[in-house]
Amino acid sequence: MSSKCPTCTKTVYFAERQMKDGVAYHGACLQKVLKETRVPLVGRYPGDEDRIGIVL
Ligand SMILES: [Zn+2]
Repeated sequence: MSSKCPTCTKTVYFAERQMKDGVAYHGACLQKVLKETRVPLVGRYPGDEDRIGIVL
């Protein structure tokens, strides 16, 4: 059972899933949502979201 993260549109796996308002996010994506686009000046490429989340 998997769902798509609305932030990055990638599959959210159980181990990294964070629920908010009944929607599954990646932990890092949810942090970004909660912080409202405080995105650091890091190269943003598909698949880098998790690393950016760690930087945050
Ligand atoms: Zn995500």
